[in-house]
Amino acid sequence: MIRSMVTGVEWKGKRIPCRLIIFDKDGTLVDFAATWVPLIQKRVALLLKALEKGGEMEALLLRAWGIDPDSGRVDPRGPCPVSPRSEEIVIGTAALYQQGYPWDVSKQMVSRAFDEADAATDHTKRVRPVAGVSSLLVRLKQEGFLLGLATNDERVDTDAVLAFLGIGRLFDVVVCAGEVNPPKPHPETVLAICRRLSVLPGETVFVGDTVGDMSAGKRAGLAFTFGVLEGGVTPREELEKVADAVVESLRDLVFFSDRQMGRRADEKC
Ligand SMILES: [Mg+2]
Repeated sequence: MIRSMVTGVEWKGKRIPCRLIIFDKDGTLVDFAATWVPLIQKRVALLLKALEKGGEMEALLLRAWGIDPDSGRVDPRGPCPVSPRSEEIVIGTAALYQQGYPWDVSKQMVSRAFDEADAATDHTKRVRPVAGVSSLLVRLKQEGFLLGLATNDERVDTDAVLAFLGIGRLFDVVVCAGEVNPPKPHPETVLAICRRLSVLPGETVFVGDTVGDMSAGKRAGLAFTFGVLEGGVTPREELEKVADAVVESLRDLVFFSDRQMGRRADEKC
């Protein structure tokens, strides 16, 4: 006999059964701008030092990565919130190439600036989790959900961040940059997580902060996609074009499970 679905999410009074919840990392579990903009600025500063350049080149490079040089604002539809590190290196290389630097020299300089900036960065100082992340994930595990993480960040950095936040053990599957191709917004990352856990896309919910996340979830045929605003840089109106629902915060998500109902029933006794 097939066991009936006992876990799910609620939205506007409607119950959507699901067994697996896949989260994006940057902008969803951790604050995107606080976590990434200082690192990108550090990469640019090291590159400028190597190039012996200043102001105009700085603005050009920041714009290439989708950061406004005056306000520091991240373009939500630029490369920064979605691109794997390898793509970001190519973007910087192309920007320098367009300024007259040979391609090979450009790539070498950009890669070196990335390596040096990343090595000098203390994850525990730069990562700012969204409020309530840890308690939400612990509760979801206790209530019987499977949890996946789909990120375009590197494995080494992802493991460091998850360890720092103390949430790594809560995920049943973590997929990072280069481990599944093509990356998000292609649906393959999401589908790969479903396959590894033997869960159908129709029994899976995706929670992310970018149009690319929502698009990946929709194209994968998932049961529901939630866009969250709190830690991301994408405006509500952009997310609403693709997501099934947009919420301000992870704390606005409502989950149900028979374990939860059982516990509530016990508490009443
Ligand atoms: Mg994100």
